[in-house]
Amino acid sequence: MLPVVTQLRFLGTSDSQGVPRWWCSCGVCTEAKTSRKNARTRPAAVIEGDARILIDAPPELRLQCAREGLTGFDAALITHAHNDHILGLGDVADWGRWTRARCPIYAPDEVLPQLRVRFPYLTVENYQARTPFLSVEASARTFAGYTVKAVRVPHGFNGVSNAFLFERGGKRWGYMPDCLGLSDLEPWRGLELLVLGASFYHETAPLEGRSVYDVQEAAALVAELKPETTILTHLGHGVDVRRPAPVGLRYAHDGLVVPLP
Ligand SMILES: [Zn+2]
Ligand SMILES: [Zn+2]
Repeated sequence: MLPVVTQLRFLGTSDSQGVPRWWCSCGVCTEAKTSRKNARTRPAAVIEGDARILIDAPPELRLQCAREGLTGFDAALITHAHNDHILGLGDVADWGRWTRARCPIYAPDEVLPQLRVRFPYLTVENYQARTPFLSVEASARTFAGYTVKAVRVPHGFNGVSNAFLFERGGKRWGYMPDCLGLSDLEPWRGLELLVLGASFYHETAPLEGRSVYDVQEAAALVAELKPETTILTHLGHGVDVRRPAPVGLRYAHDGLVVPLP
């Protein structure tokens, strides 16, 4: 049954390496391996409304879907071609193949060639009939009632990523998991909801080696953008969710469901 209210379900809320990092014995990773309040999987979410729209396809996608009782999607949106956001695409394609479902995989134009290089076997016809790679920028369709705009955002030393702006009935919300150093703030002002990536609570590594905001920087950006609600995701082992987030911010966790505007 699809819900009456459109909602966002967080499938995974960690950074690119997951929490725990399997080789790490820091306090957060140790807690995540035992009492598991900080255990989280790689970042993805699904919009659930009059359609189910997957946002990103991490390596744990199959396990995330089984955990949440999901059986399929109507479309997928991909932000960028990093492992933590795309390695589950093979599972999406296999699901389409075995159930004969159709689920186009939409990505920004510059990301599509990278997906074809990373997944050459998915470019053959029997996969492309069910799970074609398509341009989100060229698409005129709506996604669970939202128009979607892919916006290029800086991704620190990783170069560029994309974030998505969703609009329906004059209300807007955004999904920006991987960003550092946003300079064009205008498209992001006054959102009802901003889902924003923050990998550390307070990152001490030099800026030139970094790729995602820390929680302090995210708080500063949020103070500028003034969204109605902010939820932080893409949380690495530098974030301990047992400690409170800064005032006005909230940490996502795997399985969190929030209403969408
Ligand atoms: Zn990422
Ligand atoms: Zn750790």
